[in-house]
Amino acid sequence: MLECIMPKNATEQASSPTVHPCWIDGQAVYGDTTYPLINPSTGRSFAQATMADATLVDSALAAAQSSFPNWRAASAAFRTDLLCALANLIREHQAWFAKTLCDEVGKPIGAARDEVSNAAHLMDYFAQESLRLSGRIPLLGYPREQVMIVREPVGVVAAITPYNYPLSTLVCKMAPALAVGCTVVAKPDEHTPITAIRLAQLASEAGLPNGVFSVVTGFGPETGRLLVEHPTPRLIAFTGSTEVGKEIQAVSARWVRKVVSELGGHCPAIVCADAPWRELVSSMVCQSFRNCGQYCYRISRIYVDRQIYDEFLTEFMAATGRLRVGPAPDPETDLGPMNNAMALSHLQNQIAQARAEGARVRLGGAPADLPSGGFYYLPTVLTDVTPEMRIAREEVFGPAVVISPFADPRTAIEEANGSPYGLGAYLFTADLARAMEWAGQLEAGSVWVNRIHQAYPEAPFGGMKESGLGREKSRFGIEEYTELKTIYLSY
Ligand code: NAD
Repeated sequence: MLECIMPKNATEQASSPTVHPCWIDGQAVYGDTTYPLINPSTGRSFAQATMADATLVDSALAAAQSSFPNWRAASAAFRTDLLCALANLIREHQAWFAKTLCDEVGKPIGAARDEVSNAAHLMDYFAQESLRLSGRIPLLGYPREQVMIVREPVGVVAAITPYNYPLSTLVCKMAPALAVGCTVVAKPDEHTPITAIRLAQLASEAGLPNGVFSVVTGFGPETGRLLVEHPTPRLIAFTGSTEVGKEIQAVSARWVRKVVSELGGHCPAIVCADAPWRELVSSMVCQSFRNCGQYCYRISRIYVDRQIYDEFLTEFMAATGRLRVGPAPDPETDLGPMNNAMALSHLQNQIAQARAEGARVRLGGAPADLPSGGFYYLPTVLTDVTPEMRIAREEVFGPAVVISPFADPRTAIEEANGSPYGLGAYLFTADLARAMEWAGQLEAGSVWVNRIHQAYPEAPFGGMKESGLGREKSRFGIEEYTELKTIYLSY
């Protein structure tokens, strides 16, 4: 069905690559410049995308601004119905979305299908939960006076997303924003724009009015900056690196504009000797290497009680060694490629630096050379890492994990809190009193105790410290897209 986005050249010349347009004000819009999209499983270009310039960004924001008054005035039930219709269209096109995520992200096909179902589920959740938002009328009891606290949509939202979960991350921003009456201009990551464009096209098919949800594509320092440096958005919803998050926040200060940011992570897991750790090893391996380690709340540092350290390390490495590295479309693949050449080379540099500082590579530690070509890296386990080393503090957005022993639990907590990030933390112990005490001490927006699970839509998700500002998902996440207004009424 992608053909209906009018691939510009495919119909003209069979040999020309498909050019993907932006989706602005309810229609496909091509710019003057395009760039190649590279399939991470092969390293070869498979399509072209539009590089949106200032004219396209201006027109998307102007459409969002002019469609805002009618969209915010529509009933919440009307907006919910449209978003639920869009969720159903995502489900109808699951096979297409999964195949495209495979091609643009390098995500193994099973995981790609899961992302699509999750995106549809999230869309339904936000649509329904938004109906339950309300304000308050406090019982102040002043004669002939009421004080009403109401919620209003913030206005035009710019949503900027990364490459690792291009569909579900976008839904986590556009669905709550649209549900409460905001309008949205999204800019997906330059490596993974196709699913976002298709989502916007399906939104129009579902009946969302023109201009309410547009997508502009292009590189971060060009198209992304044009959006961020534009005075129109009243909120920037950003998921990406801490470095770019800081820039967005600094620029947004010019207009005292709200920024909701989901940034980097370097999530620790603490494994105590009394935990049923043998049963947990395979799910810990899965949580460390999921999506080829390109997953913000994956486990990237594991602190293990010295009593069980050797055994734990042996079993963890054995389970990691069984992971099959391969092209994303192959159903046998556990670990696909990294998304792009730059991400791969950044990881290579980080591992080289860790080695130079004295870390020991126990497994992997090198790119995987596959006949298909592409950006593969072997699942990697590092030990002998001290808290001062860069690898202990800097985010590792790839398939590498650090495992260290602890003798004193207080040191484990200290080291776990020792990075500038505070996104997620994991704790494994049979002692629930200790678990509750430590969960309180861990500097993280989410703490998982004795379990590994994706975040639920009903629970807030987000980071402390340099992992971000504000929350996504849940009622709290939806409220981020609203502002409170107090109305004093005398009668
Ligand atoms: P990135 O910050 O380089 O890019 C993310 C998005 O920002 C892309 O769309 C990019 O084009 C855009 N961008 C880049 N520079 C920009 C600029 N100057 N102005 C405006 N937009 C700009 O991030 P990445 O390396 O592609 O993605 C991985 C990062 O995302 C990791 O740090 C990871 O932890 C983080 N992440 C966080 C979460 C979370 O929920 N906390 C989830 C997923 C990913």
